[in-house]
Amino acid sequence: MFIKFKTSSQIQYIVGKWLRNSFWLVVLLVACQQKIEQQVPVFHFEDPFDTSDTSVVFQERKVFDQDSILFTDNQFDGARINDFERLDDTTFLVTITPENEPINPSPWYAFRVWSKEPGTYYFKMNYGSFRHRYYPMISSDGESWVNLDSGLVQYDSGNFSSFKLELTKDTLWVAGQHVISSNKVAQWAVDLAREGRLKFDVIGQSKLGRRLVCLKYLNPNSKGTVVVLSRQHPPEVTGYRAMQFFMDELLHHELSDAFFDRYNLLIYPCINPDGVDHGHWRHSAGGVDLNRDWGEYLQTEVKQVVKDIYKETSTAPVILGIDFHSTYRDVFYTNDTITSYDYVKEDWFSYMEKTINNYEVNEKSSAIKRPVSKSWFYAAFGAQGITYEVGDNTIDSLIELKGRASARGILMSLTKSR
Ligand SMILES: [Zn+2]
Repeated sequence: MFIKFKTSSQIQYIVGKWLRNSFWLVVLLVACQQKIEQQVPVFHFEDPFDTSDTSVVFQERKVFDQDSILFTDNQFDGARINDFERLDDTTFLVTITPENEPINPSPWYAFRVWSKEPGTYYFKMNYGSFRHRYYPMISSDGESWVNLDSGLVQYDSGNFSSFKLELTKDTLWVAGQHVISSNKVAQWAVDLAREGRLKFDVIGQSKLGRRLVCLKYLNPNSKGTVVVLSRQHPPEVTGYRAMQFFMDELLHHELSDAFFDRYNLLIYPCINPDGVDHGHWRHSAGGVDLNRDWGEYLQTEVKQVVKDIYKETSTAPVILGIDFHSTYRDVFYTNDTITSYDYVKEDWFSYMEKTINNYEVNEKSSAIKRPVSKSWFYAAFGAQGITYEVGDNTIDSLIELKGRASARGILMSLTKSR
């Protein structure tokens, strides 16, 4: 259908009216946008960090061909190898550099290697001025990983320096931990959601356009929310794996129904998908440690997670926030501030000590001073905030035992009548 205008003044009138309406529409949208921004409170902690973007150097993705005899590559998500040189017939130098500096000394490496001439080859690790952190693991398929036999690892003056590998033309994966890309995390979340209790959600995109995935259980009658975070720091895979066991127990225990009758659950399993897939040591694509951005949210990943948490907890505030990480040993970092939910932590830790043989919880409390997630859970909600740290070398059976015991302790605490 066509509308005919008799005079140009009619056209001018309609165009003018449309422009005026559009102007007010834009004003309204800007106002709404500002209102949304204002709804997320920012917090100025005593020890602030500058978390504005800094530049990042991305590794060149390629096959490193050494005289067409030995090959390595970093052409997969989570890989990191920055340079590869031949030192002599059978010895090679693997250079691993960080995405930017200054940075926490967590030299992450992950690469594939194969040889046209089967034999024993030596790999010397070069982290520049940084010290070694991750013991080498190997895999034939990138899925199942085992520690490299200690007899194949060499130490100079007590420090890790190199390892040797028996290579064939078949690809061998070598990495500092299991390689778990952002897509693998998303697939884990999708599979868990298929069971029916949790809803899979994509809350937005990372700086480089990767999905920020979430699992949610939202019941309008719930009185509180438990929040779970993981992979702020890309190589901290033992923490991520503890989170998987923790979630499995939380969802499949005999007390699970009683828990979900009372509480909501939000899980953000991969907060730094760009860092994970680019094989970063620590930082986001914005070049920032995301676990220093929980005050002003200058990094888009933290900002979107914070907004989503506020959005989903207006009637069921956060009572407990657990952020899974890895470090040199198993430790729970807690806030030294008294909250209304201290009983959850006390029940949880005492349950672990009662049920795990010869186990004493290693808790380190500190004042709320830095813009880390555990501080934010308290500042934003008065909630119990806990950084659940798993040792880099904690064995699988202990990761599972403690992850499941943690979930059971929390289930028992939060389903007890008080
Ligand atoms: Zn960490």
